[in-house]
Amino acid sequence: MTRPLLIVCLAAASAAAAEPSAADLSGRRTELETRLRGQGFTVVVEPPFVIIGDEAPATVRHHAAGILHWSIQLLEAEYFKERPQKLIEIWLFKNERTYRSGAKKYFGDEPDTPYGYYSSEHEAMVMNIGPGAGTLVHEVVHPYIEANFPSAPAWFNEGLASLYERPTEKKGHIWGLPNWRLPNLKRQIAERTLPDMATLLGTSRDAFYNAEFDAYAYARYLLLYLQEQGKLTEFYRKFVADQNDPTGRAALEEVLGEKLETFEPRWRKWAVALKGDNH
Ligand SMILES: [Zn+2]
Repeated sequence: MTRPLLIVCLAAASAAAAEPSAADLSGRRTELETRLRGQGFTVVVEPPFVIIGDEAPATVRHHAAGILHWSIQLLEAEYFKERPQKLIEIWLFKNERTYRSGAKKYFGDEPDTPYGYYSSEHEAMVMNIGPGAGTLVHEVVHPYIEANFPSAPAWFNEGLASLYERPTEKKGHIWGLPNWRLPNLKRQIAERTLPDMATLLGTSRDAFYNAEFDAYAYARYLLLYLQEQGKLTEFYRKFVADQNDPTGRAALEEVLGEKLETFEPRWRKWAVALKGDNH
């Protein structure tokens, strides 16, 4: 009779990894308020996250109830059934100086980016909110991908996160607009330094983060193209469900209805002609 035992084990496993409850969130807020007293932080709960910010209290609350709440609602509706299965803190620093010193002081990190990062290990997003809230929406995507598509390759994880660095809403759906990553992509296409798309899709995690080419921009504008064709959500679902091709190529060719070899030249022409890169 091993069956009942198995059920007990599964129940225990799912209790250990669950989205944070209201009590978990308010408990963490109290803990943080106590720990950070007198250091100029405001702590706010916006489920499933706790936000810690060093801007004016009203500004921190505005980020939480505004862009963060909005992006959580729309991202969940579009893609994500599961919330992050752990309590993740979002640290919003007002400028690069306090971001770098806060990353060091509270997490022992020396970030290699001036914008922000998500650390699964520290269960925290740490970011410089000074340049705008786009970074916040970018980072929010990462723990959702971790919870819903743990085998996602870096190109898709960063491509989707980057897509929403300049987010808007279209007919109730989250929508990514062209942004500052576009000029670099266009230049690399013109200079023929962008590798073929199969290379992007096949990059390992290390190869993606250490790429000579602008892998973020490449991934972002591939997904932006799918979005414009109304095929991004369908691609996501097929990619998640595909047990055979971890690169996403098979799912991509299926939603496009054509092979990469014929699609890629068209995509390059589309990218070169794309407007709206001054944000
Ligand atoms: Zn990222």
